[in-house]
Amino acid sequence: MAKSNPLKKCRRCGEHKPKNIFVDISGNLNPRGAYCSDCHLIRVEEWKQAAIEERESKLRKLRIIYGEWWRHYCLPKEFADEIYNERDFCPYCGDKLPPQYIGADASTSLFRGRAHLDHMDPLNKGGEDSIRNVVYVCDNCNYKKGKRTFIDWLQTLKPKYRAISREIYETKHGHPPESFEQGEPNGRCDGSSFELCMDEEDLRELYPTPIVNGPPVNKSITITASFSIDDNGNIKVDTKVTNSKGDERTH
Ligand SMILES: [Zn+2]
Ligand SMILES: [Zn+2]
Repeated sequence: MAKSNPLKKCRRCGEHKPKNIFVDISGNLNPRGAYCSDCHLIRVEEWKQAAIEERESKLRKLRIIYGEWWRHYCLPKEFADEIYNERDFCPYCGDKLPPQYIGADASTSLFRGRAHLDHMDPLNKGGEDSIRNVVYVCDNCNYKKGKRTFIDWLQTLKPKYRAISREIYETKHGHPPESFEQGEPNGRCDGSSFELCMDEEDLRELYPTPIVNGPPVNKSITITASFSIDDNGNIKVDTKVTNSKGDERTH
């Protein structure tokens, strides 16, 4: 007669436990899973903690690089998941937010059918490419909004979503959309990502003081970086930032 409840060794706790309490990566009971259900719960908690720590470390690094102005220079792509999780509907029309990513498929456009990061103040009118200026919206609204200013766009929305969208803008920007001053077109920034991979201590050494001394109002931010290796084999990073006031600081 076959054993009714065979034992199996859990990869984490190393204990031999009944196969029927093992789970797969999603936490569903599965005798082929590598972890017992107790260990799975511990692992989920560890993943959450790691994600929180990674985010906090990113924020500390951004503060080292940009000082009190970090929100203006914090690129949307660095916090795309957090921005997507702000709400589950399009703030402009109320529709359910489409998926953040869709698989590459030759028959569909990469941009159709998924959520879009909209720059509330449009980039081409001097809006910032920063976390405070973006929201995830449905693709239809993003195409409809086009290059309109936020106050013009609000007029086209149903009252309920006009109110919701205005509130989101004011919360993120810290001022009403009417105070946005149009300016020269801004490009998408390809800035600081590589620095966020560095150790906080190395960053502090590289940037004893923040590299900008003001927000990038209505002017493009240029961040250029070059790498070189010195005689001792140490990697040297040179970063140059040009901000709104035309300030240039090199490191
Ligand atoms: Zn276990
Ligand atoms: Zn929409």
